[in-house]
Amino acid sequence: MHSEYFLKKHEIEAKQWDLLLDQLQYAASYSPFYKDLFEKNQLDLKAVKDYSDFQKIPITGKKDLETDNGQFLAVLSKEVIDHVTTSGTIGKPVSFFLNEADLQRLAQNEYHSFLMTGMTADDVVQITTTLDRRFMAGMAYFLGLRQLGAGIVRTGAGLPQLQWDSIERFQPTYLIAVPSFLLKMIEFAEQNGIAVNQTSIKAVICIGEPIRYKNGELNALGSRITSAWNIELFSTYASTEMSTAFTECQQHRGVHELSDLIFTEILDDDGNPVAAGQIGELVVTPLRTRTMPLIRYATGDMLTWHDDICTCGRNTKRLGPVVGRKQQRLKFKGTSLFPQHIQESLNSIENLDLYLIEATSDEFGNDIVTILIPEDQKNEADDLKELLQASLYVTPNIQTVERKELEKLKSPKNARKPISFLDRRSAFHKR
Ligand SMILES: [Zn+2]
Repeated sequence: MHSEYFLKKHEIEAKQWDLLLDQLQYAASYSPFYKDLFEKNQLDLKAVKDYSDFQKIPITGKKDLETDNGQFLAVLSKEVIDHVTTSGTIGKPVSFFLNEADLQRLAQNEYHSFLMTGMTADDVVQITTTLDRRFMAGMAYFLGLRQLGAGIVRTGAGLPQLQWDSIERFQPTYLIAVPSFLLKMIEFAEQNGIAVNQTSIKAVICIGEPIRYKNGELNALGSRITSAWNIELFSTYASTEMSTAFTECQQHRGVHELSDLIFTEILDDDGNPVAAGQIGELVVTPLRTRTMPLIRYATGDMLTWHDDICTCGRNTKRLGPVVGRKQQRLKFKGTSLFPQHIQESLNSIENLDLYLIEATSDEFGNDIVTILIPEDQKNEADDLKELLQASLYVTPNIQTVERKELEKLKSPKNARKPISFLDRRSAFHKR
């Protein structure tokens, strides 16, 4: 058991602060981008004594990574082992690199994440996510499972039949999966007479999509899975840029920060930390990364943090689920909300099988939100208005569109999967 996370809060913070200062020194010495940034801003790193000094370091954004990608490399290129790209959910994918030390760090990250879920060396884990295609996550899981000493089944993404065949054949106890794929597996099981609750699977490490609301309860997706399949779901939160994964412990009260691997700030629009429970943007400084150190990197992810004690005994900070992307925030009749909030409400209307949330700007730069629904479901419009009024205190416009037309709008060119939010606001007003 790694005792570090069970120390007292102030002890954890003191150790983390030392690692943060080390990381600053490392970036200043080896990263061309940060050498330049610190010089330009005349920052004396020796003068960084506390958080308010640290706050003077400018935020690094996705744009910096896109324009100066090569400038972030802090080792000789021959030292690089793994070459990956970011997911490119927003913007274009960026190249990312890992050396031996970074790969070991990733293994350690997942090892501690798995321990948090109650996994042991006796478990067999089926990885139903991609291990190749330049993704970091699948390989990180593999390395972490090796460190734990657990059994591994590498089925990869998709192919419900292969998944169920492997479950029957190798009797894995955990899955690592994208939550919406679990619905596909359930559907396949129902069609093929597989009794899901009689299989060896007891829990799933979920990746890529939120399964909980901010209050910790399972969201529509999470409930749909567990009502059909009686398994324990664990949330995780990660990205290539962070090179770090956050995982839920068995108390399911937010994902735990691994304090020796990452330093997090949750900031308001003025760059000041928000209080626990408030929504802010997550800004990260991954610790102990060597190939591409990032200092104060703005993730664009909006979320909350918890400061109450977790009964698992780990005293590290915990983060809530991502409630939206900063870029997609809607300023709507005096309140601000995220497309994801509207989506969560709409997903609870059973008869509504197709919709698109559209944002435009009026002449004064205010956001206008319109929900597009298929012509053949126009009877749902009143219910929909009422529901959104009750759950979000806003009444967006509702517009009916021919089903075929709506399907086309949901799959724009270059989109990897159908979209639920169409941002047509003038760029100036987006922030
Ligand atoms: Zn915990």
